Formats: sequence, structure tokens, C-alpha cells
Amino acid sequence: MKIIKEPSIYIVGKQIVNSEDIKRFLRENNITWQTDTEIGAEMLSEISGRICYMSFGEKQGRKTNKEYLKNIIKSRHGSVLEHSVWNFIICGVSRSFTHELVRHRAGWGYSQLSQRFVDESETDFVEPDLISADQELHEIWYKCIENIIENYRLILEKLKEKVSKKFPDLNQVMRKKLVRQTARSILPNATETKIFVTANARALRHFIELRGSLNADVEMRKVAVKMLRLMQTEAPNIFNDYTIIKAEDETEIVTTEHRKV
Ligand SMILES: Cc1cc2nc3c(=O)[nH]c(=O)nc-3n(C[C@H](O)[C@H](O)[C@H](O)COP(=O)(O)OP(=O)(O)OC[C@H]3O[C@@H](n4cnc5c(N)ncnc54)[C@H](O)[C@@H]3O)c2cc1C
Repeated sequence: MKIIKEPSIYIVGKQIVNSEDIKRFLRENNITWQTDTEIGAEMLSEISGRICYMSFGEKQGRKTNKEYLKNIIKSRHGSVLEHSVWNFIICGVSRSFTHELVRHRAGWGYSQLSQRFVDESETDFVEPDLISADQELHEIWYKCIENIIENYRLILEKLKEKVSKKFPDLNQVMRKKLVRQTARSILPNATETKIFVTANARALRHFIELRGSLNADVEMRKVAVKMLRLMQTEAPNIFNDYTIIKAEDETEIVTTEHRKV
């Protein structure tokens, strides 16, 4: 059993543009367009915004992708940012984190490790910072977790016997599912989980603002700040208006003058 203190975020998917069809579109519409970004997500948001006013070629106005997206964000033309999409795997987070994460609906997709299908006997646990920083609290917490996992294993074994006696005709998959979904009732919020997440830039910005604030749960805040750092490298023209600052409680929080674009 591992005790986890830091979340891990993997960007496992990102957009590439289809240059051939972009050229064909420009040619067939007698327009020209050049951009200076090589980041697919930034390029796609720019094209989608330019489509609205057909501001290509002579009418291109703002020349750089940075200038263009800065104006989109400033003028709150947020739907344009929905065309920039990434796929993530988030691990080393607790079930309480994902319970809050999945409340974010618009522009998100989720696939999470199932406690009904997966045996959690060897699961890891996520320890809150405030507890791990205090030896006494840590010991109480750790004992509690040890106790729970021991009992989870015990209940699992007893349920296996019970279910095979009670439902001898049930197929193996259904039997396992019944056993695990019943035993998981005692697993705590601290149980580590993994979640595959797809989100667009507008949704990510909203998440980073809400969950990177002092009002948010500390673990949520950690993920939001980590996500922001990744996205500022991944797509600086979409995420660089945010600043990370130290809050009164010494944790990091996020600020921007362009909220809820
Ligand atoms: C500090 C904090 C404390 C919280 N405490 C609680 C709590 O105690 N209990 C609890 O249940 N939740 C709580 N939440 C969750 C919160 O209520 C939201 O569910 C969550 O933050 C997702 O935000 P959202 O709905 O704006 O996001 P999304 O679901 O991603 O929606 C994005 C935006 O789309 C629009 N939208 C989406 N769906 C609709 C709709 N159906 N109708 C109209 N507009 C829509 C809204 O403008 C919304 O802001 C808390 C959140 C925070 C940040």
C-alpha cells in the first residue's frame, strides 16, 4: 500500500491540424491565411474565430496567434476556445477529488477506474497535506487506512463464498462485480483513483479558475495549479493570462482578469 501526496497529470492526447484541408479550404474560398503558432489547439481556435468574420488574408487584422487569442479572451468570445481539446490521464488523486471533478459538465468527458470491476485490495491512498505534516495525525490516519483495507479484504473473501453459494448460476463476471461493488462500500474518500479526462480549453479555464481558488479543496487546488502549469507550456496563447500566487495559507492559487470567458 502506497501513500500518495502528489497528483500526476499526463497529457496523452492533443490535436494536430490537417494542413492539406486547411490549404484546400483557403484555396477554394480565394483567401490566404498565415499563423505563427505551431500548436494545433491554438491554430484551430484561431481558425474557428476567423471563420466567424471571415477575417483571413487582407482582413486578417491581428497578425499573431497570441494577439488573436488574447483578443478572443478579452472580448469573451469563449465558444472559440471549445475547439481546442486535450486528453489527460489523472492519477494519484483521491475519490473525493474525482467526485468533485465530475461535477464539471460542459466540455468534459470522463472514464474512471471502476471499483465495481477492479479489486481494490492493493489500492494506494492519498494523504491530505495537513495530515501528513503532523506526525500524530498521520499515525491516526494511517492506522485507520490499514484497518479499512484489512477489513475490505476480509469482506471481499467472505462475500466471494456467500455469493457463490447464494447465486451458483451467476456467471463469473457478474459474481465478481457483485462482490466488489458490495465490498467497496467501506472504502474511504482517500482511496486512490485514475481517471481519463477529455476537456476543451474553455472548460479547462473554468475549472482552473474555480478550483485554483482559495475557496476550493486543497487537493483540487493542487491539481488545478498543476494543470495550469502544464497548459501554460502546452498552449501559452490560451492560458498565459493566469498568474499563480501564494495564498494566505501558503498554498498556490490562480488569478486572472479574464474570468469565465
Ligand atoms: C468552492 C466550491 C464549493 C463547492 N461546494 C459544493 C457543494 O457543497 N455541493 C455541491 O453539490 N457542489 C459544490 N460545488 C460544485 C459546484 O456547484 C459546481 O457543480 C462545480 O463547480 C462545476 O461548476 P459549473 O457548474 O460552473 O461547471 P460546468 O458544469 O462545467 O458548467 C460550466 C458552465 O456552463 C453553464 N451550465 C452548465 N450546465 C448548465 C445548466 N444545466 N444550466 C445552465 N447553465 C449551465 C454554467 O454557466 C456553468 O458555470 C462547489 C464548487 C466550488 C468551486
